[in-house]
Amino acid sequence: MGPLAITLLMLAGFAAFAVLAWRKLVLLAHLQPEVRWDHPGERLKSVLVNGLLQRRMIRREPAAGVMHAVIFLGFMALLLRKLQLIGIGYHEPFTFPGWAGGAFASLKDAAELAVLAALAYAFFRRYVLRPRRLEHNREALLVLVLITVIMLTDLAFDGFRFTLLAGRDAGVAHERDFAFAGQAVAAWLAGWSAPALQAGYHAAYWLQLITVFAFLVILPTGEHFHIVTALPALFLRRGRPAHTVPSVDLDKMMADDADPATLRVGARTARDLSWKDGLDVFTCTECGRCKDACPTFLTGKPLAMKWVNDSLKKHLLEQRDALVARLPARGDAPDALPALVGTVVSEDALWACTTCGYCEAACPIELEHLPRLFKLRQHRVMMEGEFPHELKPVFEAWESQSNPWGLPQQQRADWAAGLDVPRWTEAGQAADFDVLFYAGSAASYDPRGQKIARAFVQVLRATGTRFAILGEAETSTGECARRAGNEMLFQQLAAALVETLNGLKVTRIVTCDPHAYNTLANEYPAFGGHWQVEHHAQFIARALGEGRLQPARQALRVLFHDPCYLGRHNGEYAAPRRVVAALAADAPLEFELAGPKAMCCGAGGARMWLEETIGQRINVLRTEQALARQPSVIATACPYCAVMIGDGLKALGREGDVKQLDIAELVAAALPPAGASPAAALPAGPGEPTHEAAHA
Ligand code: SF4
Ligand code: SF4
Repeated sequence: MGPLAITLLMLAGFAAFAVLAWRKLVLLAHLQPEVRWDHPGERLKSVLVNGLLQRRMIRREPAAGVMHAVIFLGFMALLLRKLQLIGIGYHEPFTFPGWAGGAFASLKDAAELAVLAALAYAFFRRYVLRPRRLEHNREALLVLVLITVIMLTDLAFDGFRFTLLAGRDAGVAHERDFAFAGQAVAAWLAGWSAPALQAGYHAAYWLQLITVFAFLVILPTGEHFHIVTALPALFLRRGRPAHTVPSVDLDKMMADDADPATLRVGARTARDLSWKDGLDVFTCTECGRCKDACPTFLTGKPLAMKWVNDSLKKHLLEQRDALVARLPARGDAPDALPALVGTVVSEDALWACTTCGYCEAACPIELEHLPRLFKLRQHRVMMEGEFPHELKPVFEAWESQSNPWGLPQQQRADWAAGLDVPRWTEAGQAADFDVLFYAGSAASYDPRGQKIARAFVQVLRATGTRFAILGEAETSTGECARRAGNEMLFQQLAAALVETLNGLKVTRIVTCDPHAYNTLANEYPAFGGHWQVEHHAQFIARALGEGRLQPARQALRVLFHDPCYLGRHNGEYAAPRRVVAALAADAPLEFELAGPKAMCCGAGGARMWLEETIGQRINVLRTEQALARQPSVIATACPYCAVMIGDGLKALGREGDVKQLDIAELVAAALPPAGASPAAALPAGPGEPTHEAAHA
């Protein structure tokens, strides 16, 4: 074929790939260090299952997932064929010996036909079905065309080769006997003249190899670099718990000798990002799956993580030279790199995120988006004091009264007035109680949350559980403050609550608030809090399973809305559904966007306290999605979701015929007469709150 030509082609292709890939890898090496080597067994498993076998992708979107897996695995399997082609460049005939040649020829043809079928579906999906999330993308089209050319030229090459050489070489003849697709092409070429066959043989060979090396050179320049980086990114992903907020070393930050050249609080510029942040943006495939149930994207706000990744990728490459130059030394002018907020992500986009976690859960390669966003918020809040004006009184309220409403700490237990709930006030009582009911700020101060807490007290009593509350000694977990970027305030609140709970020798906690549940269970261990924490959906489901609760079935059409911090952040989808199934006579309904695909109500990530001025209101869209299922009750398991969905019903004028209830309220209302319904048994609450009231 031409050993010199194939050698030069290989040298040029591999050298160009190495130079282009090296430019990105060197850039990553200049970002912040981060250790990601723990639990190697789990990491390898994820690479195998979600990387090579693409299970995560196939589960979420079977047709597209299978298509992608076939193209990826087929392409990988065909690398062996490329080695054979290179061998042919040096010596023809070049065949695999004995049975291996025949087996290889059959498998190769099967892989090529499978990849061609998957490519046909890829073109159909992208250009005929056109899923909303797929944006116009010239690189994707180019890559589909290149892979198609590689497959077709390979089949053509086999046809020419078998026709020319099978009669002269036993190895090629053996391959032909097993290569069913190549054989069919050869049969079609039977009448061609020898010069035409020779020309076709060389054209198919060189066109294919030039396309293969062109593909290799394109890889490091765009989104298809993920073919190289996806498996390392999967291996180096964050471990459990999911969606944690990067911590800030406050002692280091406050130290008198803190060095401003090395001190990092959150992220201001690209230099403050970690190498994993950089690897993730270079690995983003731009598939847009992160947009499918992203509440900000669906309601017309300027935030979708794909867009942030696109923008950050461009920014990193533009700032590459500055990033790989030496770091500013002590005494130098501050880092001159542009601030990320305002350049890569707008202020509106930064504060639009509800931290619902959908974008991370939907990403087929488990890229981590939220830590970057939290780091940007942390820098804005703690170093620059810049954040939405609505948060100022909320932060002050937490500081002074340990609740975002700023209501007096002495009123924290007013929700339990008249219920005669025991208080856990000293360590000596630890043996008297099975569990501590941590109400949290929403259930303590918000009238809607108070109703939920009161209903849950009734449920707790019906189960025969010995429980107590902290009463006036309860303080906030600081979950919202942390997600709003105020890590200092969060750590102060965390230290206070951990001290209280440990001082009282609490071992088991139950709460109606999934935000508190997530923080107590997943974030407080880093601050010295190690307890067995349960969400009330889990507690009630367990009590039902053990026969300790026997509610009567109701004639209700119940639709359950998954709170993000129970479902997506903690994987608990089954427990609330078991509760609903035990209560409703009719089969429970499901949203179109339910379970792992559930859309947020709009309250998370401190959005509860922020005005929503861009696009459609998230809670109204979620309520519209609910009403499309014609429920009589929209059930939730979170005091924030309850407010948001309740307000959605009001905004749509449907609060009269559709109820919004927490699962605790549903259970309490269905308890036998001895338990009485909460409405009858409990003093009337102060009335329905509104989301707007929360802003007041
Ligand atoms: S966390 Fe939720 S709201 Fe934020 S970008 Fe991701 S999907 Fe959208
Ligand atoms: S972040 Fe993940 S889901 Fe979103 S476009 Fe990139 S690869 Fe796709």
